[in-house]
Amino acid sequence: MLCWLRPQAYSTFHAEAAMLLSDLRSDVGRNAGHACSAHFEKRMLWTATWRRASQPTGIHKATLTGPQVDYLKCFWCERYRDNPHEIDVEHYRPKVSVTEWQGSPPLMSDTPPREVNERGGYWWLSFTWSNFALSCKTCNQKWKRNLFPVRATRIADAAEGDELVEEPLLLDPSCVFRARDHFRWTPEGIMEPVSDVGRATIITCGLNRSELRQRRMQAAQNVQRLCQQLVMHLRGGRDIPRRETWLELLLLCADTAEFAGMARWFVEETLGGRSWDDIPDLCE
Ligand SMILES: [Zn+2]
Repeated sequence: MLCWLRPQAYSTFHAEAAMLLSDLRSDVGRNAGHACSAHFEKRMLWTATWRRASQPTGIHKATLTGPQVDYLKCFWCERYRDNPHEIDVEHYRPKVSVTEWQGSPPLMSDTPPREVNERGGYWWLSFTWSNFALSCKTCNQKWKRNLFPVRATRIADAAEGDELVEEPLLLDPSCVFRARDHFRWTPEGIMEPVSDVGRATIITCGLNRSELRQRRMQAAQNVQRLCQQLVMHLRGGRDIPRRETWLELLLLCADTAEFAGMARWFVEETLGGRSWDDIPDLCE
């Protein structure tokens, strides 16, 4: 995972969102403070409501994707998705209900943990731009669903402002963080946690499912091969091949690259555990 800089909302979003939230708040108030699925179905968040406000269909996704539209990457698993339909605009904090997993799910699994202990969701964040993200359907719909692990005991009844007092265990990629504070990777591309946030994030999003591990293993082998070459050229004082290898590594570590979080971690390990932002440009 990498830090993700969420693009600004389009110009009319916040005014439209305020109207929708006011309307939703009234409905929830009439329902003794509880939001129900029908409240969201009626509003059809991504279709009719927004179109009535003269916005084209898909404006949320297009805006979150940003000007670079030649790739789409899930912000949880960092897998490329060729088809825009494979990417959802998802809510980091679930809007309708929140669940916990049952028991102690394994870190490596192809079966999503069973959801239990449901309570109301963060309905008041349904129209909050900072709660929107781009996720592949597998991470969002198959794995994360309504899971939202927090550090302490969850507040029993959902109420506006909960998010200000609780501490999420699910990493928010739009926050500033260092991947190496939460994860490490094996040569086979397996993600291992180095923090409780890392553990909860791997379990919630199924980040060690087989299709990801297999794809990541190839990327891990590629970056490790280049890292070994880089070390050889640095030791041998060979400037031209060192620059060429470094440029190849930069491509694998770019924000837009698939599994760039892992690639950066291998480069950081190769160069003595320095954080990515502290590594000098080895082309010079
Ligand atoms: Zn994903």
